[in-house]
Amino acid sequence: MDIQKIREDFPILSRTVYGKPLVYFDNGATTQKPRCVVDAIAEEYYSVNANVHRGVHFLSQQATELHEGARETVRKFINARSTSEIVFTRGTTESINLLASSFGEAFLREGDEVIVSVMEHHSDIVPWQLLRDRRGIVIRVIPMTDRGELLTDAYAALFNERTRLVCVTHVSNVLGTVNPVREMIATAHAHGVPVLVDGAQAVPHMAVDVQALDADFYAFSGHKVYGPTGVGVLYGKEEWLDRLPPYQGGGEMIQHVSFERTTFNELPYKFEAGTPDYIGTHALARALDYVSALGMDQIDAYEQELTRYATERLRSIEGMRIFGEAPHKGSVISFLVGNIHHFDLGTLLDRLGIAVRTGHHCAQPLMQRLGIEGTVRASFSFYNTKEEVDTLVAGIERVRHMF
Ligand code: PLP
Repeated sequence: MDIQKIREDFPILSRTVYGKPLVYFDNGATTQKPRCVVDAIAEEYYSVNANVHRGVHFLSQQATELHEGARETVRKFINARSTSEIVFTRGTTESINLLASSFGEAFLREGDEVIVSVMEHHSDIVPWQLLRDRRGIVIRVIPMTDRGELLTDAYAALFNERTRLVCVTHVSNVLGTVNPVREMIATAHAHGVPVLVDGAQAVPHMAVDVQALDADFYAFSGHKVYGPTGVGVLYGKEEWLDRLPPYQGGGEMIQHVSFERTTFNELPYKFEAGTPDYIGTHALARALDYVSALGMDQIDAYEQELTRYATERLRSIEGMRIFGEAPHKGSVISFLVGNIHHFDLGTLLDRLGIAVRTGHHCAQPLMQRLGIEGTVRASFSFYNTKEEVDTLVAGIERVRHMF
């Protein structure tokens, strides 16, 4: 991959902050957008904009084609069987809340159990806790090793006749661990239990095939995969989505409404109430086209190499503690240095033009497991370089000497 050429597609990467060239290492929180994605948004507003689905006129039909074409692009990208299985949402968080609401309504009764892992993002914990408060369900937690690997035997031992659903992140946004979700899904299926995979940190970095994983539900956010904010996806197997009640009412989700009775639209529209973000879905499709053209396997290989290099360089710093040392890791490194508070380190790195994230990364239960309050997190993209990693290492050394 020609990284310098790729960087030219991302105008923001050539800006400076505090007079220093920007080093953007906060890709786990959101990724920057290539010009083609931003242009797609402007172009659609300037030349196609009209509400989708219900218009007979030219613009509405063209906008509908772009929106439904985007659904097909997403389907292909994650290798779903049918576009009926692609529900557009606002993001991973809404996808999980949709599932918690609908699955909870249909299948969860007092005393039923949902399994989550200790390394889940709050978005895959709190919706289940809300259900616990409302319905009296029980949350069981998969533990992990100190290196940040889920304990598969302990996981298998959590199943019983009340287990109804497993929710697990594909890649940890803190530890970078790539969880063995295919094997975990097989274990759950052996007990007749479906699985939701939180793919927020996987889809931007590796080829994801929902059929090969045999995932029942799979959630991700557009803005983390070079697309716009406000658009996300819930993939669900048709046989499951068919059995779930609607999430919200109104707009495209109806078939017929009378004051006596309303019937609901077919999949996936049953779950898409109100005007969808059709500009956003089109822009997301352009983002997926962009990364597909680079090649997800090439992206994965480059980021792995960059992460290996960064891990090695960071390890050479005195007092460095890296959290998450699983053999199979994504492009995320969480760390602390000596007694320096993560917030101080992040703030001082920022002054050097280096954008990292600090804090609990919306994974407070994981922080409790690790016995810390927070970390500094550097998360990489294919547009990052080894020179930028060197800048980070030099920056940390500088801060370390100040302390
Ligand atoms: N799950 C994981 C693993 C994440 O990393 C994030 C975001 O950081 C989310 C869920 C929530 O994503 P969003 O805020 O786009 O809904």
